[in-house]
Amino acid sequence: MTASKAILTDDFGRKHNYLRISLLEKCNLRCTYCMPADGIALSPKASLMTAEEIFSIAQTFVENGVDKIRLTGGEPLLRKDFPEIISKLASLEVSLSITTNGILIDRHIAVLKQFKIKKINLSLDTLVSSKFHTVTLRDQFQKVIDNLHLLLNNDFEVKVNVVLIKGFNENEILDFVKLTQFLPISIRFIEFMPFAGNEWDRSKMVSQNEILFQVENTFSSDKIQKLEDEENFTARTYKIKGFQGNFGIISSITNPFCDGCNRIRLTANGKIKNCLFSNAETDLLTPFRNGESITNLISDSIKNKKKVRAGMVTVSEMDDPALHFDNRSMIAIGG
Ligand code: SAM
Ligand code: SF4
Repeated sequence: MTASKAILTDDFGRKHNYLRISLLEKCNLRCTYCMPADGIALSPKASLMTAEEIFSIAQTFVENGVDKIRLTGGEPLLRKDFPEIISKLASLEVSLSITTNGILIDRHIAVLKQFKIKKINLSLDTLVSSKFHTVTLRDQFQKVIDNLHLLLNNDFEVKVNVVLIKGFNENEILDFVKLTQFLPISIRFIEFMPFAGNEWDRSKMVSQNEILFQVENTFSSDKIQKLEDEENFTARTYKIKGFQGNFGIISSITNPFCDGCNRIRLTANGKIKNCLFSNAETDLLTPFRNGESITNLISDSIKNKKKVRAGMVTVSEMDDPALHFDNRSMIAIGG
């Protein structure tokens, strides 16, 4: 790593080569675990990064060692200038991917193919049409399913993100796993996480152990294969032998992945967050618009990164809602 690339290495030796950029704070769904019931105060349009600013700020990160960029939101495909953003970012030496709720995939599939975006994370929390509205407050189930198949028919690598919530969808864990028998997808069960306004409490969360317990009760141990963890992994992955796809568990609450964290987040209004759970943000957009260098600001933010979950080490800290009030809602971070 060259001297300039060292700015993305924190005090614990973690190298940050993965930038997640939120393109906007708006969404066409209202997932209750993500969007507060009263909505959020949206940033004025003038304080959101333009396509040109997204490119230039991303370029600074790339010059300092980022080689992986994921676009998220809100719903990233709602940005009218999404094709322009993608076309600019595709000129950088990075692997590009997106996280989407899938509703607008058919509208953008040509541009995704044109710029060789192969990896798509698609969020879908239920396989039951009538339950989709309960969590998203919108009736778009069939559209998401159709677009999932559209992606697979066009050879995209699809990971399906499933946030598990007690009493809502933990009875669908096995249905999701069984879906991987005939579909080459990776299901990623996500432990429900606390953010401003989402009324999290631990009793609503379905833990890694509970997920594995259900799977182990259904499939014999010689059928369940633990897959090798990816570098800087966030999901521990498994496969049922003979099935086309696989499944993983993102256990940010009960078994976090902080040791290998390589992520930096850039919000739609140009602030960096060095941890999903951190309330601290560093504004890059204002100095960038003033023509100042943002390199030292990035470096300082990375240096301030805590070893584990923004310094929340114990269970009681994680369970304390007061420690999450000042963080953004997930819809304004991007996951
Ligand atoms: N709208 C896009 C989507 O839903 O895929 C991208 C943005 S969304 C904020 C990114 C991811 O964060 C989604 O997979 C969503 O399920 C996840 N997410 C949102 N709120 C969450 C929470 N409280 N706990 C765990 N995951 C959450
Ligand atoms: Fe929108 Fe994604 Fe949040 Fe659902 S999880 S409200 S689709 S941003």
